[in-house]
Amino acid sequence: MERTAECHCGSLKVIATGEPERVYLCHCQACRRRTGTAFHFGATYRKEQVRLEGERKIYERGADSGNSIRFYFCPNCGSNLYWEGDRNPAVCGVAVGAFDVMAFPPPSDSIWEESMHPWLGLLPETIHYRQGRPPGA
Ligand SMILES: [Zn+2]
Ligand SMILES: [Zn+2]
Repeated sequence: MERTAECHCGSLKVIATGEPERVYLCHCQACRRRTGTAFHFGATYRKEQVRLEGERKIYERGADSGNSIRFYFCPNCGSNLYWEGDRNPAVCGVAVGAFDVMAFPPPSDSIWEESMHPWLGLLPETIHYRQGRPPGA
């Protein structure tokens, strides 16, 4: 199974092979500002499952954990498709909304719900965290 995520203009692509390790939602303020929408919908893959094609720029910032996190975005249209962090260098993240297929596993967990829009309803099986996912969870 191969899925391709693509930026708004189509020049940056992220090709992911196999199933993601984790699919989740993040309601933190940084993700809401980064995406411009109510929450971030992300999939975590092992880095060897994912390859990038096309020009990209990188925005790096410190995460609340104290580690650095790098966001890869298209220099032409600005879509953010991919990220990686120093907290867990074996994995990377891909923006689920950018994939070309509707069939994607639903989120297993939802983080930073302390800043979630109160009208948002989630699946009953979702695991909820008021802040980030604790290490080892
Ligand atoms: Zn683009
Ligand atoms: Zn977030």
